[in-house]
Amino acid sequence: MTTGRTGQRSAAARRRRRGGRHSRKKPHKAQWFSVTALAVLGMVMVVHPGATGRQSLAAQFSEGGTAVRDVAQPPAPTPTVIPTPTATFTTPQRPAPTLTRKPKGAKPNVTVSTGRLAVVPGFNKASGMRDKLTYRVEIEEGLSFNGTAVAAAIHKTLTDERGWQAVHPVNFERTDKPDADLRIIVATPTLTDKLCLPLDTGGELSCRVEDRVVLNAKRWMYAIPWYAGKVELYRNYLVNHEVGHALGHGHSTCAKANTPAPVMMQQSKGLGGCLPNAWPTIKAT
Ligand SMILES: [Zn+2]
Repeated sequence: MTTGRTGQRSAAARRRRRGGRHSRKKPHKAQWFSVTALAVLGMVMVVHPGATGRQSLAAQFSEGGTAVRDVAQPPAPTPTVIPTPTATFTTPQRPAPTLTRKPKGAKPNVTVSTGRLAVVPGFNKASGMRDKLTYRVEIEEGLSFNGTAVAAAIHKTLTDERGWQAVHPVNFERTDKPDADLRIIVATPTLTDKLCLPLDTGGELSCRVEDRVVLNAKRWMYAIPWYAGKVELYRNYLVNHEVGHALGHGHSTCAKANTPAPVMMQQSKGLGGCLPNAWPTIKAT
């Protein structure tokens, strides 16, 4: 057949050279038919295996064959779709630990009351041999205070040379034992009000009732406007004033304007023209 087609092609070529393209019409009709028929047959033979293959794949697909899944599932979604949920779930979890940390500049908690007190562990020995007055420091749980720092500030105030030890024959000693003479408590306004009953502290004041010296945490933290910028001095005042009650002192008033306020004046309610003062050696009553 190849030989024949080659010979016919040569004859056709000769005829094309002789008579141009229109002259080959008639003699080639049968040949074109043969070629076309062969081509169609070839196409059928080419197409058929593919069609069989597709049918076979379709059958396998319907059966859920592994090979079909490999073919039917585009590979692209695998790397993009699967990691996406992982990223989605892990990303929101990352900031979570930061939420448990206090934001920078956040105000400490001084008002949310748990109603539970915790004793600050530790011991500060009395600095003299006179009448020893023991006290322990308790802080309401949940308050944003460092217990050790609060206890250190209280002991420093009580043993300061400008403090009550210079006025009374007493030496303060800090303990964490239950038999302390005095409990110095730092509590939220809510618990302060409860511990100060029957006195009315109104969520603002501190008090001394029986063996309890109760310091209002809000005041400990923020003082009062006329002590602005002098929070430590106000804490000195708060401790000395309430412990002064435990030592038997009552309230006094501002006797002369622009002189130091007596430490036993209720300075948290106002200074009455006096100047802030936290020390009994400067003006006790
Ligand atoms: Zn008082």
